[in-house]
Amino acid sequence: MNPQDVLHALGLNAGLHSDGDLPVHSPIDGACIARLPAHAPDDARALIGAAHEAFQAWRQVPAPRRGELVRLLGEELRAHKQALGRLVSLEAGKIAAEGEGEVQEMIDICDFAVGLSRQLHGLTIASERPGHRMMETWHPLGVVGVISAFNFPVAVWSWNAALALVCGNPVVWKPSEKTPLTALACQALFRRALTRFGDAPEGLLHVLVGGRDLGEILVDDPRVALVSATGSTRMGREVGPRVARRFGRCLLELGGNNALIVAPSADLDMAARAILFGAIGTAGQRCTTTRRLIVHESVADALLARLKTAYASARVGDPLDSGTLVGPLIDQAAYDAMQAALAQARDQGGTITGGERLLADRYPDAWYVRPALAEMPGQTDVVRHETFAPILYVLRYRDFDEALALHNGVPQGLSSAIFTTDLRESETFLSTAGSDCGIANVNIGTSGAEIGGAFGGEKETGGGRESGSDAWKAYMRRATNTINYSRELPLAQGIRFG
Ligand code: NAD
Repeated sequence: MNPQDVLHALGLNAGLHSDGDLPVHSPIDGACIARLPAHAPDDARALIGAAHEAFQAWRQVPAPRRGELVRLLGEELRAHKQALGRLVSLEAGKIAAEGEGEVQEMIDICDFAVGLSRQLHGLTIASERPGHRMMETWHPLGVVGVISAFNFPVAVWSWNAALALVCGNPVVWKPSEKTPLTALACQALFRRALTRFGDAPEGLLHVLVGGRDLGEILVDDPRVALVSATGSTRMGREVGPRVARRFGRCLLELGGNNALIVAPSADLDMAARAILFGAIGTAGQRCTTTRRLIVHESVADALLARLKTAYASARVGDPLDSGTLVGPLIDQAAYDAMQAALAQARDQGGTITGGERLLADRYPDAWYVRPALAEMPGQTDVVRHETFAPILYVLRYRDFDEALALHNGVPQGLSSAIFTTDLRESETFLSTAGSDCGIANVNIGTSGAEIGGAFGGEKETGGGRESGSDAWKAYMRRATNTINYSRELPLAQGIRFG
């Protein structure tokens, strides 16, 4: 399927070469695959207004009925999985299996949200006063603004949108300026679901096409009750305080610097496979990518020998060719950042294998690289920084406490893993004194989370949680209710007044 056919299959009429001011490039070959008209700031404000109006009606629709809309969205995603997965590959450069995997994740969260639509329940709480009852109720919150990153162009939106919609909230989505086509395709599929649903209010989902200025409008608009922002720590540092200034709610999903510890008792074969997927999958452009390998000195040489062989033979190339494991970086800026980090790593005493540009003759406008292994003398500055590219820093350790200190000794706190068959080590890793991340795994890698758990991380990763478990609570307003069914009016804490 060429790009035009993919867009057509998804119900998009965006011309490949219309006269819009936002060019969309495929990282596969650098070609311009569309030019889209960007929204003007006033248009964006008007769309937020329309969503705010839709909220007044949508919040009154019973939650299980709202779930029906999400169920229909899931059906549209099932029917268009291949085409949408292909568009993810074209626009974000993911290999075909990962493009379709991202759509599967959307289907999974829709299923989850449908079930959730009958389970938005609160507690009943024992009252200290006779003839009184206390309870919690959960109400729709308001417009949810979603700001998303290029590397999960559709799944992250669906984590937010599926929950927001069943919770009674319209969504205004500002996708990455690098991946607006996949967002418009999701909007087109959502419209199909709406048509089948029948009586939903207008304005439940809007997509803002354009750059960060549109994100800033969402951030500053008091009609946006929750801003869920996924992207770099730099972005989060700007967004968080601005939303706080107007007392809005903010859910931040920011950068990671994920480590995997390999202990002496580890199954090295399993560890090597998990490291390979975690470190070079998605060309190192996942928030959960394995960026640091902390390996016991007794097994380091054996593990590194396996990794070097695997790195040298991993097929880098067109992500739509079967057999390709590593697609392109998103753009030249990503390539330049990778080279700068490798130069720094060398200056800081590192020994680098790989990292060079590949396929430049065939794709002069695309940025393919051999994933890099950087053996470091310690956790230097560059290791503590997230470079969004396939660089795996390798650190050796002697005792377990040292490994844990290295592990937690970075500003980010998203995902983490340990490979060990020693119960004491694995339990310590998961304990209060262990990994300080939002995700901590044993004998599986750092990337590839399931939607059933809450996803997110600590420290500079921003503290937000989305997707499964009870993440839905961030999308609702909690009310504590006390009901007096007695004939007296006792005050709490035994206070007598008058
Ligand atoms: P980015 O920060 O450059 O952009 C992300 C989004 O934020 C884009 O839509 C952009 O237009 C918008 N934006 C940027 N500055 C803004 C501002 N001041 N106000 C409002 N909106 C603004 O990130 P990217 O390069 O697209 O994505 C890569 C980064 O995202 C990595 O750091 C990665 O770790 C992170 N990420 C985190 C998660 C997670 O769940 N923790 C998931 C995916 C990606």
